Amino acid sequence: MTGHYIDGAWTGDAPTLAVENPATGAIIARVADADAAVGQRALAAAVAAQDSWARTSPRSRADLLMRVFDLLHERTEQFAALITAEMGKPLAEARGEVAYGAEFFRWFAEEGVRADGGYRLAPSGARRIVTMKQPVGPVLAITPWNFPLAMGARKIAPALAAGCTLVLKPAPQTPLTSLALMELLHEAGFPPGVVNCVTTSDAAAVCAPLIADPGLRKLTFTGSTAVGRALLAQAAPRVLRTSMELGGNAPFVVLASADLDKAVAGAVEAKMRNSGEACTSANRFLVHETLAAEFADRLSAELSALRVGDGSAPGTQVGPLIDAAAVAAVERLVDEAVRGGARVRTGGHRRPGPGHFFEPTVLTEVPADARILRTEIFGPVAPIRTFADTAEALAAANATSAGLIGYVFGEKLSETLTFAEALQTGMVGVNAGVVSDPAAPFGGVKESGLGREGGRAGLEEYLETKYLGLAL
Ligand code: NAP
Repeated sequence: MTGHYIDGAWTGDAPTLAVENPATGAIIARVADADAAVGQRALAAAVAAQDSWARTSPRSRADLLMRVFDLLHERTEQFAALITAEMGKPLAEARGEVAYGAEFFRWFAEEGVRADGGYRLAPSGARRIVTMKQPVGPVLAITPWNFPLAMGARKIAPALAAGCTLVLKPAPQTPLTSLALMELLHEAGFPPGVVNCVTTSDAAAVCAPLIADPGLRKLTFTGSTAVGRALLAQAAPRVLRTSMELGGNAPFVVLASADLDKAVAGAVEAKMRNSGEACTSANRFLVHETLAAEFADRLSAELSALRVGDGSAPGTQVGPLIDAAAVAAVERLVDEAVRGGARVRTGGHRRPGPGHFFEPTVLTEVPADARILRTEIFGPVAPIRTFADTAEALAAANATSAGLIGYVFGEKLSETLTFAEALQTGMVGVNAGVVSDPAAPFGGVKESGLGREGGRAGLEEYLETKYLGLAL
């Protein structure tokens, strides 16, 4: 389908928005390009469906979500192929994203029937305090291109489970996976208007009027901190409920007690998943000086052995970056660091086209003030710095306005956990290069965002707590 999905039907709008395969540069599809009026129609459908969806029993809502979980598993290959074609990640990772995305539908099917309340006596004895949970109301969900299925699933599943209706605005680079998900939700049997999707090349023109519309009750966004900040400003006049999953600048800390086998394996995972195009990607490696030389050697050997190529080709381990601008941005960061004195241990260059490839890269002797340490790299580049004592590592790790995730590797339990507790991040991987789990609360502190996705907290983002004061 190439139209917009509104009120349970596909619009016949002309497909004019081109979708590129980043591995080949070829245009693989065109989809409809919404203007503000189309966005308003989608929100109107969500608003019209809100009351009856909120009254639908939690169990009925959960049954539909479980159907989505089953259908996604049945269609893993179809979704994985779409994700690889429009986003570039290797097929094996795309299959992993389908399993991860599907799990949000199962998790929230299970959680949606457990939204609880309370009944208790006020300490004064004057009244009964009764609390109940109610859906927030119609939601606008804006998602990025790096996990075309999972970023939507993490919002759609809890919103629908809680009894909210929703309009999805996916990234223009990767609309095909979202449109395929809409077909699947339609087949699963969600009533018209409960979920809607509009694709557009002009996100601001479509979204700003929706954020200003009194019918919208919640904005949930995943993307860059710069755009998140602008959306918060737009949401402020209406005091709109918001959830913000924003950019990171993850420190990856290898303490003196670390097991290097674990640390190197974790570094490969934390750096190379999604070609480094993940908010959770390890951005700065801080390694104790006694381990730094061996860590750099071994990480360089691992990264230089990875097979880079078209994600749909068998055996590919690292795909392309999303577009030419992404390659240019990574190249600038590496060139600047090298000009400042960093040493290239492996990689360091873009690969000739077609497609948007950058070599897996390890840099050592990176100057403390290099821009690459302060910027979300969003590419397969590992800058390494050393430290002499743990307090110095902690200060460096926390010296950023971002606070999404950090990683710490160490075998001394007390020192490692104390370090993890002191990291100013919403999440910490302790001897682990991947922590994402639909059953766990994902999200950041500082300028990495507001709210959590997944876990029990993920449902609360779409619920209001109502208090009834009973005088008996
Ligand atoms: P982005 O440029 O912020 O875009 C994200 C989404 O917002 C896209 O759909 C984009 O559409 C839309 N958008 C941009 N400006 C808008 C506006 N004025 N009004 C409404 N929508 C607007 O981010 P990105 O480059 O796609 O994604 C990478 C960023 O996402 C990184 O910073 C990464 O860390 C972050 N991220 C965070 C998490 C997390 O959970 N914390 C997860 C994944 C990614 P257009 O492209 O058409 O502008």
